[in-house]
Amino acid sequence: MNEVALKYEELMRNVRRYITKTVNLQLIERAYKYASERHNTQYRKSGEPYIIHPLEVALILTSFNAGPSTIAAGLLHDVIEDTSVTHEEMEQEFGTEITSLVDGVSKLGQLKYVSKEQALAQNHQKMFLAMAKDIRVIIIKLADRLHNMRTLKYMPQDKQVSTSQETIEIFVPIAHRLGMYRLKSELEDRCLRYINSDEYYYVASLINEKQKEREQDIANMIEELTILLNGYGIEFEIKGRVKNIYSVHKKMREKNIEFTEIFDLLALRLIVNDDAACYHVLGVIHSNFKPIPKRFKDYIAMPKPNMYQSLHTTVIGPNGKIFEVQIRTEEMDNIAEFGVAAHWAYKENRNNTAEQEQLEIQQKLKWYKEMVEHSENDDDASDIVDIMKDDIFLANVYVFTPNGDVLDFPAGATPLDFAYRIHSEIGNKTVGAIVNGKIVPLTYGLKTGDVVEIKTSKQSYGPSEGWLKIVKTQHAKGKIRQFFNKQNRGTFIEQGKELVNRALEGKVPSVTEFLGKESFLKKFQKQGINTLEDLLYAIGKKTISIQNILQRCEADAPGLDINTILENINEEKTKLNRTSDSGLIVPGLDNPHIKISKCCNPIPGDAIIGYVTKGKGITVHKADCQNIIESDDKRFIEVLWSNNREGKKYEIDLMISAFNRNNILMDIINSINALNVNLIKIHGNVDKESIITVKIKVLLEDIDKLNNLVVNLKKVKDIYFVERIVK
Ligand code: MN
Repeated sequence: MNEVALKYEELMRNVRRYITKTVNLQLIERAYKYASERHNTQYRKSGEPYIIHPLEVALILTSFNAGPSTIAAGLLHDVIEDTSVTHEEMEQEFGTEITSLVDGVSKLGQLKYVSKEQALAQNHQKMFLAMAKDIRVIIIKLADRLHNMRTLKYMPQDKQVSTSQETIEIFVPIAHRLGMYRLKSELEDRCLRYINSDEYYYVASLINEKQKEREQDIANMIEELTILLNGYGIEFEIKGRVKNIYSVHKKMREKNIEFTEIFDLLALRLIVNDDAACYHVLGVIHSNFKPIPKRFKDYIAMPKPNMYQSLHTTVIGPNGKIFEVQIRTEEMDNIAEFGVAAHWAYKENRNNTAEQEQLEIQQKLKWYKEMVEHSENDDDASDIVDIMKDDIFLANVYVFTPNGDVLDFPAGATPLDFAYRIHSEIGNKTVGAIVNGKIVPLTYGLKTGDVVEIKTSKQSYGPSEGWLKIVKTQHAKGKIRQFFNKQNRGTFIEQGKELVNRALEGKVPSVTEFLGKESFLKKFQKQGINTLEDLLYAIGKKTISIQNILQRCEADAPGLDINTILENINEEKTKLNRTSDSGLIVPGLDNPHIKISKCCNPIPGDAIIGYVTKGKGITVHKADCQNIIESDDKRFIEVLWSNNREGKKYEIDLMISAFNRNNILMDIINSINALNVNLIKIHGNVDKESIITVKIKVLLEDIDKLNNLVVNLKKVKDIYFVERIVK
């Protein structure tokens, strides 16, 4: 018999161990024949017929007890990618389920990974999982990679290194997250051999060196344990454990320790019948061998996120040797070795009808989803769950830049979010977007796998207000707001100049020279003021008063009669001080009908402007209120905050975003009360991702109080965003 026939024999022998139904066996046979015919004229780099590769992949899959569809898909996994067979043809032959598995594997194969940074590697892992959608696709892909690593020696050297790099950075972490320990260890060792062969052979020699001695130590311990456990009538199986080369290398590296200092080189594994027996055995061991403090771990009561369960302890054995002992049931042991794949196989019922089979697959997929969903409600979830939860399957999308970099975004993100992520200048100049080669509207919702390109134009007017509603990320929102603020800066600088001139003109030789002195500006550095323009802007925005400035510059202005100027200003104020009910002054108007606008809720300290409405008097807006920006110039009128407001308070709406937890609302309320701010309304809303959005309406005196409040709120644990709401 030739090599191919032998391989096929071996596969079918393994398959028959756990798959007995004729229809399933026929499916596998049919898949093999189909793949074999299509790859007929192809050869691997090793010189072997190509079909050996899919056969090996299928063989690896049988070691996980994979189901018939998965094995068939394993046999067919390269057919769409490497032969002329189309998706439609395969679907006709093998149906949608198998075809979508093969499709999934082919798609993952097209993901080109270029090692650049760790962060990108992580994104690639996420994207990988997100794109696979069905865990079986990942398991087939891992089996495919394992066989490719086994045959890597036939590849040219640069390919060996790059494939190993990709494997260690993308595939190994995924295998780890899926708990597939055995496959992971083999991949690691094979990678290390190509990436750092000196280290590989060095560690291997260290392990081999005292192999005899270690084997003797383990034999002694096994003997003692056997006598002990037999004495208690406990049924058990005992295994010595080998640590793989890569993990020894990693431990020496990361913990910077010598080979001899590695504790768990002497390791034993006890397999017992049930959970209770695990704890029983643990008790027996601890009462006969001295345990090393802090080395006991109960992963049965608290499984690792990748489903790993076991008891771990480290004890001092015969001759003072230190042993790591793992105690677990057979099922736990299988899951420890094969992870998700084993869990899958465990639920496999071997004599099913097609309908039952379908139902089981659905149950498995449901289990997968449940695992994902369950993890969302688990505060301590990490690892697999971290990578698989909302973050991946529900919320995030992963898209490519034209250079092949991967960026991740929350679900619903648009090309504008993408543009601002690349650079704020690109964002500001965006005029259009091209996704997968097609022009899309800026409101297009990005999907995982999209290749996104942004069209910019120098003539662009910059962002429009509507963009704030299109973008999904806080980052883009912030950049758009920043753009608007900068635009308004000019207006404030003009207003500042006007105020300064009114107070100082004729009293100093040159206002600009007077205020622009470096020694003087330095005094305001802490407030972020570096230039004269910054200062005028602050004055115009009314974050710094003229009085304040004059007092501070006294020493710099010998001869200037500051007191008189201050008196003059105060006099002017008193003259104007015909305050309306709202604490506002309209110069020249005695009893203005004036009202604070509800859209932007200005408070003292905000730069404001009055707008004359027909028949309703004057409404006061923030100077940068978006609702009046395009209004009729002639209707604007100057309005000032009065100094004489007698504790009057103003309404402010705030939006707070936080990671939800117990008592968060209480903490928010306490933080408001502590500042003597009146809370009028509070409304919280928790979303699927456990983010709570709290809207509050408060009454407070002025912008200083508001700033204090925001600072205080941001100090509350788990609050990550506080924003004044402007409609
Ligand atoms: Mn392949």
